[in-house]
Amino acid sequence: MKTIGIIGGGQLGLMLAEEAHRLGAHCITLDPAKDAPAAAVCEEHIAKPFNDPEAVEELCRKSDVVTYEFENVPGEILIPLCKKYNIPQGYKPLYDSQDRLREKDNARNHGLRTPLYAQVDDEESLRRAVLEVGLPAVLKTRTMGYDGHGQQVIKTEEDIAKALPLLSVPCILEQFVKFDFEASIVMVASKDEVVSFPVGRNVHRDGILDLCFVPAELSDTVREKLRRQSEHFMRECGYEGILAIEYFIKGEEIYFNEMAPRPHNSGHYTIEGSTTNQYRELARYLLGEPLRHPALVAPTVMKNILGQDLDEAEKILRENHKGVFVHLYGKSESRPKRKMGHITFTPMTGEEYERDWAKRFV
Ligand code: AMP
Repeated sequence: MKTIGIIGGGQLGLMLAEEAHRLGAHCITLDPAKDAPAAAVCEEHIAKPFNDPEAVEELCRKSDVVTYEFENVPGEILIPLCKKYNIPQGYKPLYDSQDRLREKDNARNHGLRTPLYAQVDDEESLRRAVLEVGLPAVLKTRTMGYDGHGQQVIKTEEDIAKALPLLSVPCILEQFVKFDFEASIVMVASKDEVVSFPVGRNVHRDGILDLCFVPAELSDTVREKLRRQSEHFMRECGYEGILAIEYFIKGEEIYFNEMAPRPHNSGHYTIEGSTTNQYRELARYLLGEPLRHPALVAPTVMKNILGQDLDEAEKILRENHKGVFVHLYGKSESRPKRKMGHITFTPMTGEEYERDWAKRFV
């Protein structure tokens, strides 16, 4: 019996623990919140902060293998522990993704195309960056940004003044890509191989993932290019474990937006829509078992359930529809824009979802 330690006890940790249990493992989660979703299913919960070195070490000591479902684990804590304990993904993928400037440099250096971007530290460098990148552009804080937080679109010269408050921390200015749509890929890599999940088309609302349609409507050429370049990138960077990459798709062009070395919201659909799912393959990797190649079972739609959608999701759960899989994360407090659950519809096409289901959500 092996024990997987999970830094972070959110819904990603919850679903990872569920799959790990199916493979016969135990799980321990570290999360400061007493009611963290993963705590309800893990054998043990260390309710201490992520920046408490002794708490993270306690997790490592009690586990055979450690992973993270939370991106902002401090390097000064994790790096020394990576030398002492079995944390096979290491700190590097976290380090490479924690800063948007470093993340884009890294993507570009390993063969991925990014939107134009420039470092911004003050008003002068912002004005210089606007000349370099052009308008419209997006100003983003380099660290701690998520779900559209810490971002401002600059359309005109006048918007520059309005964006100045963001500059209290280091920023990056990115060319605003007028993309056709957004797409993401989730991959799991062991020392020997990389497996990737079918690519989804993502729709965001207020910077938060709202819907994921799988398969994404890509030509075979673009789909294959996206898959190949992503797998190549993961190998070139020497990453193992799980990695999700979000892209902007514009015609035949594929622009890297960001990456996350943890299970991804857009990969929730894999639980019912794919022959194996992102949590199970990550667990298989962590337990040292060979990976399985995923295949799409049928066209699938995933709808994120935020606080404002919770009542409707509970209603849909009670209605008990065939092919509609409601997941609720058991969070004790519901707030608008807080991720409370998700629903997977499979088999279902995007047209069928828009016709029959879209109207049920505000
Ligand atoms: P991010 O946190 O960087 O993923 O940004 C959140 C969302 O803002 C993305 O999913 C896009 O919908 C939008 N966005 C971010 N960066 C850009 C960009 N350079 N061009 C166009 N839209 C963007």
